[in-house]
Amino acid sequence: APIISVKNLRKTYSNGFTALDDVSLDIRKGEILALLGPNGAGKTTLISIICGITNPTDGQVVVDGFDVVKDFRETRGRIGLVPQELTTDMFESVFNTVSFSRGLNGKKPNPAFIEEILSDLSLLDKRDSALRELSGGMKRRVLIAKALSHEPTILFLDEPTAGVDVALRKDMWQLVERLRQRGVTIILTTHYIEEAQEIADRVGVINRGKLLLVEEKDALMRKL
Ligand code: ADP
Ligand code: ADP
Repeated sequence: APIISVKNLRKTYSNGFTALDDVSLDIRKGEILALLGPNGAGKTTLISIICGITNPTDGQVVVDGFDVVKDFRETRGRIGLVPQELTTDMFESVFNTVSFSRGLNGKKPNPAFIEEILSDLSLLDKRDSALRELSGGMKRRVLIAKALSHEPTILFLDEPTAGVDVALRKDMWQLVERLRQRGVTIILTTHYIEEAQEIADRVGVINRGKLLLVEEKDALMRKL
């Protein structure tokens, strides 16, 4: 059975704009799926709904057998989301930000585990720095640390390398690969074909709210 099953999703925002139109998709355990599409295609809307932070207008998302709307308490612990930007208190320290995020997701404090994540993301020496003191690349890594803080089995990354330099982009790709080797299922959005080509197993192409196709990467790349 798929770890995530998306059925006939539709999202019409309160201004009347339909950002997703009848999207259905199965995601396999342990795969890396790239959702490829231009700005405004509906990628962020789609992952926000799968993560349970935006309600769909119609349709259903089931994660590990649980409905993301009705059983949010069950699904939220299984999912980590790396958004595009930090929205937390910029005066708070790196350690506290990541640790607090773990608590928000219903897990008991575990300072040793938080330090392990920070170390893994080369952030341990910034443990006590305020977020406002960090470079752009470090802020991105804090976003990832937050998303991993409660030990999710599914990780979503929203445009992880948009506006990032080449070196950091390669770091990000290596990180995604390492997470996959630990068994984490990964869904990322991107508007770079090269990114989908580099790291994904399967690629879904989304445009104007429609999921146009989902294919194994190699099969898709032969067509492009
Ligand atoms: P919903 O239809 O889910 O209630 P809203 O239309 O109330 O969502 O908008 C939620 C938030 O998204 C608001 O803060 C709004 O300002 C913001 N928003 C509105 N239009 C856009 C847009 N085109 N792109 C991104 N964010 C938007
Ligand atoms: P992407 O991540 O592919 O750039 P989004 O899901 O952010 O696409 O946005 C899809 C479309 O929905 C865009 O046209 C955007 O302006 C619109 N949109 C996003 N959020 C809102 C909102 N809260 N209210 C109204 N329109 C929105």
